[in-house]
Order: sequence, then structure tokens, then C-alpha cells
Amino acid sequence: MTTTAATETTPSTGLDHLEIRGVKKVFGDNTAIERLDLTVHKGEFLSLLGPSGCGKTTLLRMIAGFETPTDGAILLAGRDIVSLPPHRRPVNTVFQSYLLFPHMNIADNIAYGLKQAKVPKPEIAQRVREVLALVQMEDFAGRKPEQLSGGQQQRIALARALVNRPQVLLLDEPMSALDRKLREEMQLELKRLHTKLDTTFVFVTHDQDEALAMSDRIVVMYNGVIQQIGSGEDIYANPHNGFVAGFIGKQNFVPAETVGTESGTARLRTANAIMETTSLDRRPASATGTAGTLTVGERVRAAIRPERMRVAPAAQERPGTNSARGTVMSVSFLGDVIQYMIVVGDNDEILARVPAAGNELLASGTEVDLSWEAEDVAVYDCEDGVPSAEDGV
Ligand code: ATP
Repeated sequence: MTTTAATETTPSTGLDHLEIRGVKKVFGDNTAIERLDLTVHKGEFLSLLGPSGCGKTTLLRMIAGFETPTDGAILLAGRDIVSLPPHRRPVNTVFQSYLLFPHMNIADNIAYGLKQAKVPKPEIAQRVREVLALVQMEDFAGRKPEQLSGGQQQRIALARALVNRPQVLLLDEPMSALDRKLREEMQLELKRLHTKLDTTFVFVTHDQDEALAMSDRIVVMYNGVIQQIGSGEDIYANPHNGFVAGFIGKQNFVPAETVGTESGTARLRTANAIMETTSLDRRPASATGTAGTLTVGERVRAAIRPERMRVAPAAQERPGTNSARGTVMSVSFLGDVIQYMIVVGDNDEILARVPAAGNELLASGTEVDLSWEAEDVAVYDCEDGVPSAEDGV
């Protein structure tokens, strides 16, 4: 039996910028963050991603200094910053609400922190000009916040944080108030800014697409515990546990029982199919679970990504191993792909996505055969309480 590592334990290389060591946060009888280790590299764009209540904002607020850890240390460039108040940390936060002063114009809003820090006036003027240019808002210096759109206000909130030249910029769901188009524009804008600056970005979001689009690495969190850390590609292709498999991208989870293991493959029986898998390892339901080797008689969940499903009009012979017959319930043409919701057996819904190029569009009501490869079947532990889309074959 092996356990899946939930946290990073590699020793510091000296180049690591921000280190969270054994940090825990308890509010009354609620543990928001279980003992957690995380290393953020200098200049990287790191996202904390997870569902509501997973502890990502609490972790960000501890880095910012708005919350004190119950236990553990937070080191920035080797120095423990836990005892420093927020304004003494070389860290700035951009919040979901812009928190601009309504009675001040944009230039004064941006200059506020520098004035408080008694930075000389000519330097303030220079830095405000520079940062307005950086967020492409040079022409708006004299306006009041109410005279700006939501997206423009968000740029100013960014400028106000960046003018302090923080070593780490913390972003707490900064785009959640923006509509989808503006959000996508701001994602590009943030990436552009990050590329230009030498600043470390730590970005909190519950939106997996946003995290995938922007991050060098993603930290997936659930229940105050890090579930997996890696690049978007890594986490998508090789989820360490069932929570990550279901949270990143779409997934078909199928309740199954192991009926055989021989010569590099395992056989699984589901309600409507016999599957083979080359994955003889059963991964845990979440990071606190235990991985193991598949044994006969065990109840598990098989998982197949929708884009790994092949869909064809039903053939004359009955489907064999790694295939199932179903009926198309709905069809969505998404431009580059066609998405089918296919009902198999009594009520099992399977999502399939096939490339639009070279595949005919099958109408709702068509009887179809689904098929997949043994290499595309991953196996996860069943565990009560860990959320996932429970489908079936
Ligand atoms: P969301 O996306 O909804 O903001 P989150 O992942 O950022 O969620 P946190 O805000 O970090 O989650 O909250 C983690 C847990 O800690 C939750 O159970 C929350 O209720 C609790 N919590 C957060 N702040 C406090 C507080 N000041 N007092 C008591 N409990 C708190």
C-alpha cells in the first residue's frame, strides 16, 4: 500500500520565494486549513483552486497577514513574516471588490499607499504614470472611480497594488464580478502583466478554466487539504485522486466491481458493460485516502474522459468488452467538437465528445455504440462524502 502525497515536502533550495511550512488554521471548532506545506517559486503564477469552503481564501489571507496561522511558519525569501502586520509585508492583495476610494480620482487612489509611506512627491507621480501605462489606463488618471466600467476599475485596483512593487501579488477572485467576455480579456491582461513583471502571483479561484488558462502551476484544494499540485496539463492527464479527476475537466465515473486481474490488465463489471483497464492501481477518493492495488471483488469507480469515448451508429452485433450500447439523448455542436449525452441501460448518462471534423452529427434518438480503450480507464476508490459526478455505463 502506498499513500498519495498531499503536500510538497522537498527541502528549500534557497531560490524558493514563498514557503508555507506546516501552516494550520482553526476557527473555533472548524479546521479551515489542515497542516499544509507549499512552496511558491519566484516569479511564478500559482493558482489556488477549489470549491467553496476548501480554505483557499483563508490561505491567501494568512499570506497577506489578515489572518494569523494557528500553527506553522510563512517565509518570504527565507524570512518568517507571520509576526509582521499586512502593511509591513512586501505583499499586496487585489480583492474581488475593488475597494477604490469614491471621492478620490484614479491617480490619487493609486498614489494613496505611497503617500502614506511618505515617498517623495516626484517619485509618486512617476510611479503612478508608469503603473497607469502598465495597465493601459494612462488617459483615466483624472476620473473618479464611478466614471469607470467594472473592468477599468479592476485594472485600477491592480495598478494600486502594483505601484507598491510587491514581491508577491495576491489576487482573491479578482474577476468574479466581471461578465464572461471581460473576464477573458482580463485573464489575457493579467498574463501579459505577469510576463512583464518579475512578481510572484498567487491567484485564488474556484473556476477551473480560469486556473487552467493562466497558471504555471495549480494547487487543487478540498476540505483544507492540498489534493494535488502541478501544471494544468499534468493535473488533467494524471489526477492523483478521484476528487481531482472529477474537479478538473469533465469525467464519466462508473460504479464497478473488479472481477479479474491477469497479465497486466484488470476486468471490471459495471451495470451495463465489461471493461478492461491497464491501470492495476486504485487511486484514493481524495488526498487523505490510501492508494492500493486492485483486488478481485472490490467495489471501485472507473473513470473515462468524455473525449476518450468513440461514438458510432449501433452495429448489428452486440458490443463486447470496453463498449456499450446507448441512445443519444442530446447533441451539442460546440464548433470544434460535438458533445453527446448518451443514455445507457436504464438511466446511466455518459458524456462523449468527438471532434467535429470528420465525424457526422448523430441526431437525438439515434441508437449508438460507445467504445473506449483499456488505457483510458482509470480506477478510483469509492468514498462517501467526496463530491463527484456519479454517472454510469
Ligand atoms: P469561497 O470560495 O466560498 O470563498 P474558500 O475556499 O475561499 O471559499 P475559506 O473562505 O477559506 O474558503 O473558508 C474555509 C473554511 O473556513 C470555511 O468552512 C469557512 O466557513 C471557514 N471560515 C473562513 N473564515 C472564517 C472566520 N473568520 N470565522 C470562522 N470560520 C471561517
